[in-house]
Amino acid sequence: MTMSDIAETPQILEPAPGLFVRQAVDNITWADMGDYILVVDALEQADLEDEVVGVIERTVGDDPVRCLINTHTHYDHVALNEAFRRRYDTEIINKATSEIPDEGRWFTGPRRRAVMTPMVGCHTDEDCVVWFPEDRVLLVGDIFGWGIIPLVGRLNRDSLRLLEDTYARLIELDARTVVPGHGPLCTTLELRRWVDYLHGLIGTIQAACRAGQSDERILAETAPPDDMHHWWRFLKWKHADTVQKVLRSVRRGVL
Ligand SMILES: [Zn+2]
Repeated sequence: MTMSDIAETPQILEPAPGLFVRQAVDNITWADMGDYILVVDALEQADLEDEVVGVIERTVGDDPVRCLINTHTHYDHVALNEAFRRRYDTEIINKATSEIPDEGRWFTGPRRRAVMTPMVGCHTDEDCVVWFPEDRVLLVGDIFGWGIIPLVGRLNRDSLRLLEDTYARLIELDARTVVPGHGPLCTTLELRRWVDYLHGLIGTIQAACRAGQSDERILAETAPPDDMHHWWRFLKWKHADTVQKVLRSVRRGVL
């Protein structure tokens, strides 16, 4: 198995005591709040219900799953919503169906606390992140994608500014562990590296366009940085996809 397949074998990780992630292609997180369990994101496959409920009960006991947060409501983050509601009468919370104040909604228990904060526009217009301040664990949903530009819409000056501002807020939290919606866990270092990578690509591609180079040559010669070769699925397609998007926006004159 190569590094790029790392997420295809699910692993149960514990980035802070009593706070678990089932790391896979789609990630689900659960935290022992002390007298209830908080879950974040609910996968793509409803048939994982028994496995997921089983591992939650094995790791944190049989307190009720009182709250389930979706970082956004794409199909690959909500499949188990109904299962939790049926089993535990869980409150399902996401920005599509609940009012989340700009300053965030807090979840507190005897053991820990977390805050769900809207950071919309990087991936969808309902993006939220979840921050466990004492554990220094940050769940960013699909705002970080191991090298991809997370925007569903176009990359242009305005959306670039939004990405920069949002990443600055995320980096400032100084998380020890960052849980993306998909693939391996990482740290604040990768958030910083991605912003630098994007700026580097934009500069390189703008210069190549000014120098009159062809699209074919730019696509072929804009190399992935050495220190990012191990990033999840980066060489497989993410770098090429990002180069293509930046090039398109530079050619259109919107970057
Ligand atoms: Zn998504």
